[in-house]
Amino acid sequence: MQRPGSVDEGARHLRFAIIGAGMSGILSAVKLAEAGLTDFTIYEKNDGLGGTWYENTYPGLACDVPSHLYSYSFSLSPDWSRRFSPGAEIRSYFERVAGEHGIDERTRFGDEVTHCEFIDGRWHVETAAGHQDVVDVVIAATGVLHHPNYPDIDGLDTFEGAMFHSSRWDHDVPIDGAKVGIIGTGSTAVQLVGAITERVGRLTLFQRTAQWIMPQDNPAYTEVQRDDYRDHPERLEESHSNLREMFGLFANAIIDSDSAEIAFIENACKANLEDNVHDPELRERLRPEYRAACKRLVISSNFYDAIQQPNAALITDGIERIEAKGICTKDASTNETCLHELDVLVLATGFHADAFMRPMGIVGRDGHTMAEEWADRPNAYLSISIPEFPNFFMLNGPNGPVGNFSLIEVAELQFGYILALIEQLRSGGAGELSATRAAMEEFEAARVEAAKKTIWVTGCRSWYLDDRGIPATWPWSFARFREEMAAPKSEAFERR
Ligand code: NAP
Repeated sequence: MQRPGSVDEGARHLRFAIIGAGMSGILSAVKLAEAGLTDFTIYEKNDGLGGTWYENTYPGLACDVPSHLYSYSFSLSPDWSRRFSPGAEIRSYFERVAGEHGIDERTRFGDEVTHCEFIDGRWHVETAAGHQDVVDVVIAATGVLHHPNYPDIDGLDTFEGAMFHSSRWDHDVPIDGAKVGIIGTGSTAVQLVGAITERVGRLTLFQRTAQWIMPQDNPAYTEVQRDDYRDHPERLEESHSNLREMFGLFANAIIDSDSAEIAFIENACKANLEDNVHDPELRERLRPEYRAACKRLVISSNFYDAIQQPNAALITDGIERIEAKGICTKDASTNETCLHELDVLVLATGFHADAFMRPMGIVGRDGHTMAEEWADRPNAYLSISIPEFPNFFMLNGPNGPVGNFSLIEVAELQFGYILALIEQLRSGGAGELSATRAAMEEFEAARVEAAKKTIWVTGCRSWYLDDRGIPATWPWSFARFREEMAAPKSEAFERR
């Protein structure tokens, strides 16, 4: 095994394309360089770094994983302002790490990869700008939630006010004093309601499905605490590892719908609703008809308070259509319609979570396309490797641990695994490496079976579920994920 940072004489030279300069693309670049693999280019469709933290800039944006956990293990920060720091601060963190590692200079910004084709043992990469590259290994660090879901509602295009998806926030549109409508009640909408209700003239929230809300304070770190972290880096490490343990327990809760931990979460959400929503009629409309954490658990310290403000309204009648002046809803029992006039309409309607690197055209061995491979739905061995797509590795690919964990830890573990595969390519142990079909199918069958015990299948609609209603996630413990990521199993890979 080669030491990080050293390059063996006689080892195969490898060139890499990293697709995406978000959290996992930056991680890939840092880790490749650390391993002495410096011949790479990062391709980024946006004009800046940060992926989801570049695209999402809506008011109230934060991460629901504590900042001391949502940090690279190799670049813990004493500077976080809050337990759950705001989105702009998270983006600055990624920019700082990328800057420290010279990643900006290695990135082609605003240059989306449109096509990757495996020809004669190498990947031929093409971008929208017409740039071409030939590489040995592709790292697809393209993220999960980046293709906005625009709702299919009658009259959407006829609205005359300002309208945008939450991940395309238009900061030129004034919201202070305005009549603002939000469609959706996911993590995004809940954060938005908490952040803008006091600014807008009228806030109208269109709820199709109620959400359980886990109460969660978001205290600021004092300067004394930050100094303490600066002076005692071991305390930063300790904080990171304590949070890791805590989130590991959460993972255990959601994979077992009968666990004591999930009962604790359910009770906390129910008490939050009972104790903090005062009008019984509103409380019932906010009460979900499914179990807590069946959908991705939403955490908030201020949503219930905001939705009870005199200038806020929760609309639970179904949306009939969108008109020039606002949204028309229909009372199911009386059939009466009502127009809710709006100046601004925010579509907090989520993402196409099964797109991954598509619409990029990807052609693997012998002309086999990703469109064919994923015709039913996305799949990959351990979320990382796909048969017939040799030397093409994904970070945060399909069916991985996307629950309420730190996706940074997930990506770090996955990259360690990928690096072990890359080591086989570099040392000459293999020229082409991809998971065998048997390994992928066996993994998928076990995953589908295990998913039946999870909280995600207890009766709700969510972006975790695939077209069969099976959660497209890791259904085992986080400890098991760590074990799997420790080293690739030789028999699971085809070498040529
Ligand atoms: P989401 O959880 O998928 O929620 C989308 C919302 O839009 C749902 O309430 C959905 O209703 C509603 N919706 C979709 N189409 C609709 C239609 N045609 N008519 C009416 N309502 C419609 O999306 P999100 O809130 O953007 O969050 C996505 C994920 O991003 C989160 O689960 C999380 O992983 C991540 N995220 C995290 C944070 C954080 O860290 N705090 C913040 C934001 C986002 P139904 O429930 O009825 O389907």
